[in-house]
Amino acid sequence: MKHQIPSQGLQEEAIFERLEAYRSQDLDWRGGQAFAYIYDAGRRAEKIGKKASSMYLTENGLDPTSFPSLLRMENELLAISLAHLQGGESSAGTFTSGGTESIMLACKSAREWARANKPEIATPEMILPETAHAAFHKAAHYLGFKTVMVPVNKDTLRAVPEAMAAAVTDQTVLMVGSSPSYAHGVIDPIEALGAIAQERGLLFHVDACVGGWLLPYLKRAGAEVPAFDFSVAGVTSISMDLHKYAFTPKGASVVLYRDAALRHHQIFACDNWTGYTVVNMAVQSSKSGGPLAAAWAVVHAIGDEGYLQLASGVREATESLMAGIAGIEGLRVLGNPDFCMFAFESDGPSVFHIADEMKVRGWHVQPQHRFGDHKENIHLSIHPGNVTKVEPFLAALRESVEAARALQPSPVVAMIGDQLGSIDASDLGPEAVGNMMAMLGVKDGALPERLAPINEILNIMPPKLSEEILKTFFNDIFKPA
Ligand SMILES: *Cc1c(COP(=O)(O)O)cnc(C)c1O
Repeated sequence: MKHQIPSQGLQEEAIFERLEAYRSQDLDWRGGQAFAYIYDAGRRAEKIGKKASSMYLTENGLDPTSFPSLLRMENELLAISLAHLQGGESSAGTFTSGGTESIMLACKSAREWARANKPEIATPEMILPETAHAAFHKAAHYLGFKTVMVPVNKDTLRAVPEAMAAAVTDQTVLMVGSSPSYAHGVIDPIEALGAIAQERGLLFHVDACVGGWLLPYLKRAGAEVPAFDFSVAGVTSISMDLHKYAFTPKGASVVLYRDAALRHHQIFACDNWTGYTVVNMAVQSSKSGGPLAAAWAVVHAIGDEGYLQLASGVREATESLMAGIAGIEGLRVLGNPDFCMFAFESDGPSVFHIADEMKVRGWHVQPQHRFGDHKENIHLSIHPGNVTKVEPFLAALRESVEAARALQPSPVVAMIGDQLGSIDASDLGPEAVGNMMAMLGVKDGALPERLAPINEILNIMPPKLSEEILKTFFNDIFKPA
């Protein structure tokens, strides 16, 4: 039977017992064994973030005249963020729900800017290094941009300025660089890209979602960090998440503009209906004050010295991890990472088996599928919670590589793999997808313990096909139950 609303409201204890029971299956991250999804600065930051979040959960960010405290917290966080990334007097920004929203808003501003200033552009284009985050593809999908993808340097994994310049057309509006890219943790040549953008009259967005907050601290802690912020000529906007390496609860990011005039294009206003006047800086209209208050609280709780210390810790742990992994036969760290995240590939056992073996041992790592010339690999994001876990992690990884060596590819994978060439994504019905999923061990929307066979298949599928299959799968798992 499907779940139903209780006829009588439940007792408070009963509700929380149920929620605790539900949560018992989730990723257990407090022990520092998760190397993705979680950015943990310890129990004090967690407690303060949660307290501020619940204090402001019910306040509504829709209307700054009714809740001036939310306007004040946002403006204070923007002042801190812009000072951090060397904005000037005319710079401005907006607090958003996450990196995706920050990126969508920067792209929306770019589209409106082009409509106002380059009316001859019919279909706006954005130029992306192939390492740019999926959020740009999502923004293009929502906003009607064409994406132009440019290969990166095979060894450094950084954007190639000459190739980016060659991709500019008379329809180009926006160029993008990452600082750093999520997949490999390398920083694109922001200065060279900024010069191209300036010369060609383009907007230039630096995606510093993951790195923007911590990079200045890593630099102060002794790392070599190239300029990536508003000190670089040509950079017109930057996205920077707080809910990653500022360690605030999720739902917190900022999009920043060199000039408030560009942000003007981001704002939506509607006085053209029967109800209250709507003026929205970002995508949401009614919105909880919780994430903003939590972000304000955690940034103030950790403070400048606190972030510097956390940065030193993750920097050392990252270097030890990279050295340890380079010392394991068959594994290779990709590129020359600039941040406390990186990826490694294997020329021996399958990385998907390695990830499964790590999971068996209680460690969460993130497999990344093959793309173009880029082989499948494993991504690690190192956060303060991982810092004391370097040695046990490496020991588990050595064991996992050995265990994975003994594992063979699934025969189902070979069978499906043979048929892939003849499958057309556009005529793949839910039934065909269901059959394929059943062969891979996905039953009633539940995934098997070991994900290697599924990853192996997704890994060899062309993106259009895996996207269709995953959409069909998600369409199925999100259902009344
Ligand atoms: C995480 C990330 C994003 C997307 O941010 P969300 O907060 O997940 O929406 C965009 N760009 C980069 C580089 C990221 O690491």
